[in-house]
Amino acid sequence: MHFRFITFILLLFLFSCTHEPKKETPVETKPERVIVVPTFNADTAYACVKDQVDFGPRIPLTKAHADCEKYLTAQLSKYADGVIVQKGIVTTFDEKKIECKNIIAQFNPQQKRRVLLCAHWDTRPWSDSDTARKNEPFDGASDGASGVAVLMEIARHLKESKPAIGIDIIMLDMEDYGQPNEGPMQRKEDTYALGTQYWAKNPHVPNYYAEYGILLDMVGAKSATFLQERYSMHYAASVVTKVWNTANQIGYSDYFLFRDGGYVTDDHYYINTIANIPCIDIIQQDSATKSGFGSYHHTHADNMSIIDANTLKAVGQTLLQVIYSE
Ligand SMILES: [Zn+2]
Repeated sequence: MHFRFITFILLLFLFSCTHEPKKETPVETKPERVIVVPTFNADTAYACVKDQVDFGPRIPLTKAHADCEKYLTAQLSKYADGVIVQKGIVTTFDEKKIECKNIIAQFNPQQKRRVLLCAHWDTRPWSDSDTARKNEPFDGASDGASGVAVLMEIARHLKESKPAIGIDIIMLDMEDYGQPNEGPMQRKEDTYALGTQYWAKNPHVPNYYAEYGILLDMVGAKSATFLQERYSMHYAASVVTKVWNTANQIGYSDYFLFRDGGYVTDDHYYINTIANIPCIDIIQQDSATKSGFGSYHHTHADNMSIIDANTLKAVGQTLLQVIYSE
């Protein structure tokens, strides 16, 4: 994904509310619903990050990519009510036609109320933000594997204790095949998130709809901070508020900051604009770095040494709290 610096117009909507006097009608009082939220196991998630990294960089058309697809499909098949591997041909910035594979796991497929959770599982083919070996890939421990690992651990819980709502987990392919920032080619739009763009135009279920979506990207690094990204705020402010409030209530205020993150064109942008599903992005941002992301972003430093189970826990437990409160 990449950063877009766009001047923005802040629209203020003024809501007026009227208060009608309450009628005194005797109603049976229902007992308050007791919500049991499972405990996210960060060690399991950490192991899943490592499993993916051990395959090697998950670049389309490589053995590591094929091996990882098998692994993710097999794991999800243990937990979900149904797994679909959606295959589609996409065109890359350098005019290659490549097959992308979106791995979709359905939970409670009969439920009308649905929430979409997603993360990209591919890794970028180049370390173009590094100072050395720019043409070689990196491990993608945080950028790719971490989001997938959090969702896999959530999938395990969805099997063990059914939530009240339907959930779809989508492991998105070819997010990170986007045009490098430097180079002789003219800048092209929409070269990232190719798997998501394909899915948004060709949903796995006709007229697919979810009440909202949550995208995870780079959610595994030590002391990561998640800012309130602006496309998320524009399209799904209430979801951002719900997730950030939840995280802060359960003790993760060091990670989920109530701070403006600027615009990031990530998978969620296309889920909002093409699929018309309000979707937020939980993505590590750091205003002190040049990229605006973690200092390891698109460099060889994105390996297991930067991964911290505490960060995976903060994100995973927050998501479980949100899901099981619905
Ligand atoms: Zn990336």
